[in-house]
This record gives sequence, structure tokens and C-alpha cells, in this order.
Amino acid sequence: MATNESTLPRTLIFFACLAALASTPRFLADAMLGRLARWLRVLGMDTAYDPDVPDPMLVRWAQAEQRILLTRDRNLVAELRPQRSLLVEADAPLIQLRQVVAQVGVAPPVELFTRCLVCNAELAPPDTEDIDTRIPPASRQLPGPVRYCLSCNRVYWPGSHTRRMRAALARTFPDWPLQR
Ligand SMILES: [Zn+2]
Repeated sequence: MATNESTLPRTLIFFACLAALASTPRFLADAMLGRLARWLRVLGMDTAYDPDVPDPMLVRWAQAEQRILLTRDRNLVAELRPQRSLLVEADAPLIQLRQVVAQVGVAPPVELFTRCLVCNAELAPPDTEDIDTRIPPASRQLPGPVRYCLSCNRVYWPGSHTRRMRAALARTFPDWPLQR
């Protein structure tokens, strides 16, 4: 009986995780929303962005990859009728981010900076204990993880830039636990 009692919650947790994975929204940002795309990536959200793709192809791309098309273009939505889209209202990227989070229902992230801000790939921990010479000496001792983009070879480290972004997010989402 003890086995059954411990198996049931695990099964439930498994299905809860599957449901969470299935419902994690993915985005495609249009050419005018590059800075919003970067902020969504800071939150760990899978956000594709290529400013050179023409509108009809953008709509097909979003549909093929089940992404929510984020756009500022009312005409695009009216004429091309993307399956899932969100018309972004504000000019300021953090206000845009607040709109997307509220309307799509993005959960507060467990961790920030887990995705490459430039190419959208998930970041990996370093595979070596060696100090990367690209990290400024003053930042090498700072608490927080150093992460690498295996796709575009960028390195991310805790520093004043991540502190500023974290502080801006904390102001934008006062209810989120982002103090670290
Ligand atoms: Zn990258």
C-alpha cells in the first residue's frame, strides 16, 4: 500500500509538468518589437525574431511553430489573420512586456537569463572550471551563474548589466520575486 500512496502524487506531478510544458507560450515578434523580444528572452520565454522576414512569411512561421505572433501592425492582423496573435499597444518595451505577460498569462520566471538575448537559444553552464577571459576580472568573483550560448558563442555573466535589467523588471512586476 505504501508504494501506491507514494506513486500517485508522483504521477500527478508528472502530468502537471506535462501540462505546464504544453501550455508554455512561445512567441514570434515582428520587426518593430526587437527590444520586447529581448525582454521576453530575459524571462526565459522562447521568442523568435527576424526583422527581415516579410509579413506573410511571418504569419506562416508563427503557425508552423505554434507561436503567438506579437505585432504592432493592425493591418497585418486584419489582412493576414494569423491564428494566434497579440496586438502590442505601447511604445515602451517594458510596458509592452507587461501587456504580453498579462494577456498571455506568463508565469513569474523561476530564474532570469537562461536564454540567449541575441539568438534565443537556451544557455548552458560552462563545461570547464577555467575562467573565461571574456568575463571582466571585476565580474569573475560575483555571485550568480556564468552561462554560455552554444549556438552563437556568447557568454553571460552576473554584472551591472544584469543587475540593471533585474531592477527594471522588479519595477515593472512589483509582485514577482526578483530581488536576487
Ligand atoms: Zn546565442
